Amino acid sequence: MEYRKWYDRNLTTSLLGFGAMRFKTIDGEIDEEKALALIDYAYRHGVNYFDTAMPYTNGKNEPFLGKALSRYPRDSFYLATKFSFGVINSRAEAETIINRQLESLCTDYIDMYLLHALNRNLIKKIEEWEVFALLEKWRQAGKIRNIGFSFHDDYETFMKILDMYDWDFCQIQLNYMDTDFQQGLKGYYELEKRHIPVVVMEPLKGGKLARFRPDIEQVFRKHSDASVASWAFRWVGSLPGVKVILSGMNEMEQLVDNINTFSAFKPITAKENEKIEEVKATLHAIKAVDCTACRYCLPCTVNIDIPRFFHIYNTYAMYADLDDINWQFGILKKNSAMINECIECGKCAEACPQRIAIPDQLKKMAEDLHFLFK
Ligand code: SF4
Ligand code: SF4
Repeated sequence: MEYRKWYDRNLTTSLLGFGAMRFKTIDGEIDEEKALALIDYAYRHGVNYFDTAMPYTNGKNEPFLGKALSRYPRDSFYLATKFSFGVINSRAEAETIINRQLESLCTDYIDMYLLHALNRNLIKKIEEWEVFALLEKWRQAGKIRNIGFSFHDDYETFMKILDMYDWDFCQIQLNYMDTDFQQGLKGYYELEKRHIPVVVMEPLKGGKLARFRPDIEQVFRKHSDASVASWAFRWVGSLPGVKVILSGMNEMEQLVDNINTFSAFKPITAKENEKIEEVKATLHAIKAVDCTACRYCLPCTVNIDIPRFFHIYNTYAMYADLDDINWQFGILKKNSAMINECIECGKCAEACPQRIAIPDQLKKMAEDLHFLFK
């Protein structure tokens, strides 16, 4: 197993981390037999980082993972969980949440404690609830050890949050297709510069980089027998600031393949990088809109978040991943006007360096993805 030291800290994690959020369920309950087999196999093969959160599997993930890990010596693994604003209703509830989590997780302390899925809307809440004071109190009491955040928003918001606190680590979405999405590689390099250890989530872009159309897969297959997924893991793991790559493994076949990738871990070579660039170019060529997410078209006159709509449109064209599209659309709806509210003022198209006929493309998207707008 490949291990990474967290800079000058006395902390070494397996590069492959076990993301517990995707355990299979039967009638809403975790398939414990299957999940335990996965956890045991991972642990026995050197995985020492396990990640969960209160909302996963409808609140059943933390208690299950805690019970499963309590069979191992506590100092033989790192446990990561999160302060999830979505399930904490008030400051008073926030005060006591850590005790509930420790009890659920059958432990006296949490190694890595993250503010969950931070974005621009949560900044105010962090300040109002004085969350950093709470975290410090818990750290002094020995309940949590390292404080970090996971993130889903743009680069500017990322920088704002990064400067809010002296973070011990940070969890970001990163893969070879998302180098300019959310904080992107730019955000990664900022973390590397500051020596803030990086935990990567979505290295396979929610599974989309684990399989392609046969003609695209051929680019990798001609070069080696390694799985398509292994290319994506090795690309992320070649970044030296990355200390853990989380994979939400729920099938033994995936886990075995991942253990093979990380047991004899080899960084991506220059030649292999050319293959990845070829695959990227092919995927980009089948994009619906050539949007680079520069956001120059904003603010839209009626507050449509144009780049995010185009991101969904491209996800549809390139991967046809309907679950992901529905999830992204659900989040977007809360912060953006809808496409059909466009008054065709043309302001956005004038500002677009890619010369995209934005109002026309939005209309086309509404037709192609009509199922979203019912
Ligand atoms: S044309 Fe439509 S999308 Fe563009 S700024 Fe005007 S209202 Fe917004
Ligand atoms: S200005 Fe053009 S390229 Fe930039 S985010 Fe808007 S639509 Fe995309």
